[in-house]
Formats: sequence, structure tokens, C-alpha cells
Amino acid sequence: MRRPLIAGNWKMNGDAAEADALFRALAAVRPGGADLVVCPPFTALAAAQQSLSDTCIQWGAQNVYPAASGAYTGEISPAMLTSLGCRWCICGHSERRQLLGETDDFIRRKVRAVLDAGMMPILCVGETADERRGGRTASVVQREVEEGLRDAAADEAARLVVAYEPVWAIGAGQAATAAEAQEVCGWIRECLFRLFGQDAASSARILYGGSVGQGNIADFLSEPDIDGALIGGASLRADEFISIYDTAKA
Ligand code: PEP
Repeated sequence: MRRPLIAGNWKMNGDAAEADALFRALAAVRPGGADLVVCPPFTALAAAQQSLSDTCIQWGAQNVYPAASGAYTGEISPAMLTSLGCRWCICGHSERRQLLGETDDFIRRKVRAVLDAGMMPILCVGETADERRGGRTASVVQREVEEGLRDAAADEAARLVVAYEPVWAIGAGQAATAAEAQEVCGWIRECLFRLFGQDAASSARILYGGSVGQGNIADFLSEPDIDGALIGGASLRADEFISIYDTAKA
């Protein structure tokens, strides 16, 4: 039985005061049978550690550089993240693929670095609107999963999370339907089966992301291959984020 996971991606939002206020509001959350993770900007990770250490909320980063240390100006290493209590790291978000030119190969190295540091990667995959219109959803998603997880091992599957985030649904206010999301998440699980075998495919968690809110989370969670959600905009609204988590707990 996979434990549901609700993860919030703040993206480049939240200065120090806003992050503190949001952490304080979230700290009221009651634990339950689901995991709750927030991924604020790097600048708020120390505050996350201070504010959330005694709560059921876990925190992670939105990105990492796949090297231990060195001349990588502006970058953050896996050990820097774990030193701030991060247990999670988003890898390969479509905004980084599109705006910052991240390749499958670079993302694969990040996933490996995150696993080596003992953290859990949330590998984001998903097709653009053009790719969907052109009938290429399955091939794009399959390539991103295979390439991103190429260096992972079957016995690491319990720490692997794949987030299916159709690019056309992110920040659009118009989510995929639960049936559309399930179809692709089912393909992702088949892909995990081909890569790592049955046990691993059954234990890895697959999320849907793209305009998820309190109005549609229950639909996604009722699908057999969707184990939770990666949430952008709604993760910045404490009441809505907590309500989404409450639905996942139920
Ligand atoms: C995201 O950025 O990962 C995301 C899913 O954003 P939103 O929920 O705002 O669509």
C-alpha cells in the first residue's frame, strides 16, 4: 500500500517574512496517513528547518547541483541541502527544462546525486501541448522517466517519486482530467516495471501535478496509479494546501 504524498512547490515565491508566515500557518497541520512536503526557495530552507522540525511536515529543495563542492557559482550541493534537514528534492521541473535548458542527462545526474545524499527525488516529467496534439505524450514521458532514472536501482524504488506534470496544465487553471492523468501515470508505472521489476513498480509513488486545488484533488487521488500531487499555486495558500492534505489523509 503506497502512502499518499502531497508536495508543495513554491517556485520563486516567498520572501523571508512571507515564508515565515506560511510555515507558521502550516505548522498547525495534524499528522495522518499521508506525507506532506513543502519545497520553498533555497533562501527559506533554514527557516523551514527552524519552523517545521517539530511538526509532521517535511521539507525539500526545488533544485540541486550534482557535485559535492567546487567552482559552481550560484549552485547548491546535496550535502548543503541535507545539512538543512531536506529530505526531498524536485528534479527536472518543466520550468527548468524549458527556461534553463536542463537536459535529460543533467537531470539523471541530479537524481543520482539526490539518492546518494539519502534524499528522495521528485522527478518531474510531462509533455507540452504540442507534443500532446502530435500524439507524442507516451514517448516523451517514457523517455523522461527512463533517462531520469537510468542510474537508479530497483532497491531505491521506495525512495523514488515521479510527478506527471503535463506542461500545458501547470499554472493554467485548467488541470488534466483525472482519466487523462491516470492514463499517463499508468504508463509511468509500466515503465517503472520494465526498468526495475514488479516490487519496485508497486512501491514507487507517482504524483499528478498541474492546477491541482481543493476542488479536484479527490478526483486524482481516486485513480489507482496516482498516489498524490505536486502542487504549485495552491501550496502558497495555507488553508487550501492544508485542505488538500486533509483530503489525502482521508
Ligand atoms: C508545479 O509548478 O509543479 C505546478 C504543478 O504548478 P500549479 O499547481 O500552479 O499548476
